[in-house]
Amino acid sequence: MIETITSLAALRARITAWRREGLRVGFVPTMGNLHAGHYSLVQLAHQHADRVVSSVFVNPTQFGPNEDFTRYPRTPDADTSGLEAAGCDVLWLPEVEAMYPFGVELAAKVQVPGVSAVLEGACRPGHFDGVCTVVTRLFNQVLPDVAAFGRKDFQQLAVIRQMVADLHMPVQILAGEIVREADGLAMSSRNQYLSLEERATAPAIHRILMEMRASSLAGVPQAQVEAKADAALRSAGFEPDYAVLRRPDFSMPAPEAPGPQVALIAARLGRTRLIDNLEFDLPG
Ligand code: AMP
Repeated sequence: MIETITSLAALRARITAWRREGLRVGFVPTMGNLHAGHYSLVQLAHQHADRVVSSVFVNPTQFGPNEDFTRYPRTPDADTSGLEAAGCDVLWLPEVEAMYPFGVELAAKVQVPGVSAVLEGACRPGHFDGVCTVVTRLFNQVLPDVAAFGRKDFQQLAVIRQMVADLHMPVQILAGEIVREADGLAMSSRNQYLSLEERATAPAIHRILMEMRASSLAGVPQAQVEAKADAALRSAGFEPDYAVLRRPDFSMPAPEAPGPQVALIAARLGRTRLIDNLEFDLPG
């Protein structure tokens, strides 16, 4: 049976008891409205830990003023049963007041320069500061040995890895593969904002990512690949924020330079903003 914990004192008691038994603790932070992508991270964490804690917390500090904080889907009952089925041991459900005891305005902030500033960071100012600020708090609450994050949020994973390395946080970061619907659409809590018509259009993002990979492998110059992807997104009905090829550290790939690359897209479809990416290797 999964145990739902809502007070920090109770969470600490549970974690301390596990530690006394010598058990390794895994952690999966989420914002709830869980799907198979989240549950795959619980399973991944379990491969590296004896007990797994998952948090559900819709973090106000990572949403911009005109973003979807208030309408973000909240489905606590389904999340609890889904986490239990996935093998999660504890559901950590903190209140905003417990997460930010001095209030959001006076909260100590964690900022990771550089990697936080580009792409998602440029489109969503302050977003990664909010993510780092809450993940630091969650790590201090749960004290995990390992924590699992999805490759779906490619840049978030890079920001978290840098934060953990830079601040010497004693936690190992695991990366989970992107879980997709049968038609290629990356699973996301935001997919349910889509109208039926938009839902039929949305898998174009994954198709265009695959075209970007194919063009890049065929030697098409980066600027052409990106321009073609942008045009394809617009003609499918999206308003792209970016459609780019980068190295995993977000530097520009040199022409035809071999090595790992990633195609990244963020695009709005109606009121819904979707992100996705595709990692690949350019052979030498
Ligand atoms: P969220 O609840 O959207 O904040 O996501 C919580 C965690 O689940 C993050 O580490 C995400 O990268 C991960 N995640 C979300 N969607 C997927 C997906 N389709 N496949 C794999 N991981 C995902």
